[in-house]
Amino acid sequence: MHYTIQQTLQQAVPVLQQAGIESPRLEADILLTQVLGVQRSYLIAWSNRLLSDTEYQYFQVLITRRCAGEPIAYLTGHREFWSLDLLVSPAVLIPRPATETLVEQAIEHLNHLSNPVLADLGTGSGAIAIALAKECPAALIVAIDCQLDAICIAQANVQRLKINNVKLLCASWLNAIVPKSMDMLVSNPPYIAETDPHLTQGDVRFEPRTALTSGNEGLDDIRQLIQQAPLYLKNAGWLLLEHGYTQGEAVRILMQQQGFKHVSTIHDLEGQERVTIG
Ligand code: GLN
Repeated sequence: MHYTIQQTLQQAVPVLQQAGIESPRLEADILLTQVLGVQRSYLIAWSNRLLSDTEYQYFQVLITRRCAGEPIAYLTGHREFWSLDLLVSPAVLIPRPATETLVEQAIEHLNHLSNPVLADLGTGSGAIAIALAKECPAALIVAIDCQLDAICIAQANVQRLKINNVKLLCASWLNAIVPKSMDMLVSNPPYIAETDPHLTQGDVRFEPRTALTSGNEGLDDIRQLIQQAPLYLKNAGWLLLEHGYTQGEAVRILMQQQGFKHVSTIHDLEGQERVTIG
């Protein structure tokens, strides 16, 4: 038995809906465009086209995985960030809209510097580094991650998007950086508390724990970054950190204790404290 595009989508929508997927029609469309390697408009234009056995079975596998909660970004291998199409895999955190707030702030500060050198610590897919590289072509950006499989994804993104001012390094946090060499350090580090119940729901279940959690209060890596950053920053260099919406005050205090000046916290698009700068 062979089904058309339209019939296949009609079967999938209630299945996704029953699994609690919020936009079942949209997601069914996205997964079928992935299987067929086409744009969404093709599904409408060719709604009576029959699917081959392989296409149909591949689609059913994706639907089953999506119903089990796997993030759509991992099933398609793509996520849009800063209007860039980024490759993602389960080796990297899926870039979030809130992180665009960090990018915006970094750009604002980079615009006052000529030929700045900066590092993106824990780059993952390379999202922050690549967005900054696009916006600030004169900047040199070192993108660092301790996971080699993340560096491979970041490298693939750098090549696909033809970015030539991002250099990738596999290292732990600041270890590979020359002291007093950086105009800016940016990071979206892991900042969720290990016991946070949020970790048992939704997409985060499938994301790398090393990119998400950091000790009892989620502040272990942030604390370490703030303590070490002054050694690697030039005088008057900037540190920009993303953090949880309840961590603003703690991060400001840590920065001030470490001697950072001009410490302030910026809200994300949802109005939550999300990025602290010093
Ligand atoms: N903001 C993400 C979330 O709450 C976490 C990202 C991170 O830990 N850096 O799912």
